[in-house]
Amino acid sequence: MSKQLILALSKGRILDETLPLLADAGITPAEDLRKSRKLLFDTNLADVKLIVIRATDVPTYVQLGAADMGIAGKDVLLEHGADSLYEPLDLQIARCRLMTAGARDESPGRARRRVATKFVNVARRYYAEQGIQAEVIKLYGAMELAPIMNLADEIIDIVDTGNTLRANGMEPRELIDHISTRLVVNKASMTMKHAQIKPLIERLEAAVDKRLSAEEAHA
Ligand code: AMP
Repeated sequence: MSKQLILALSKGRILDETLPLLADAGITPAEDLRKSRKLLFDTNLADVKLIVIRATDVPTYVQLGAADMGIAGKDVLLEHGADSLYEPLDLQIARCRLMTAGARDESPGRARRRVATKFVNVARRYYAEQGIQAEVIKLYGAMELAPIMNLADEIIDIVDTGNTLRANGMEPRELIDHISTRLVVNKASMTMKHAQIKPLIERLEAAVDKRLSAEEAHA
């Protein structure tokens, strides 16, 4: 008898790009996730259930085995410190960059830089690697406001087009990492439920390849 598999999805902007990819891989929710207030969903596959949670909670659920697999942005995985998870597949969606940014035409002068970000672990690691002393301030949103209001000299945030930065008189400075959405798998699940998980990974991989070929054909 096959065991139940729980796949944790990140709520929000990643979800809209995840669902078509799951459909291409043959996994469809039994009802419309975006129209329901439920958090746990059946799928067309008897042994696969979906949970829809905050992106930052996905690595926690998967690491602790409350979910067998998860879909989360690399930014979230870097911040969580996801060494304890397998990351078998880059889904190549929601691509963006994790960058430092600051006020336009201003270089950070302070000997000890003040940095506002929601990625505090990433920030501490990054500045330590650069040999830069930094005071890291945790914010939960609207990072772009921090330099304007003199709360920080620099921010670390996700940049896609750069429009949000430009609209606030800022510019990107250093690239920390390229970001995209990843499939993660609990280490014990990968062993215990390998016969169920492996074909799902392969189908998702084929769906990603198909999408990339279609993108290239349109480019
Ligand atoms: P942009 O103005 O296009 O550079 O977009 C920047 C804003 O959009 C950032 O403040 C991010 O919060 C958000 N954003 C852009 N791409 C992503 C992504 N792939 N995942 C999560 N947030 C994103």
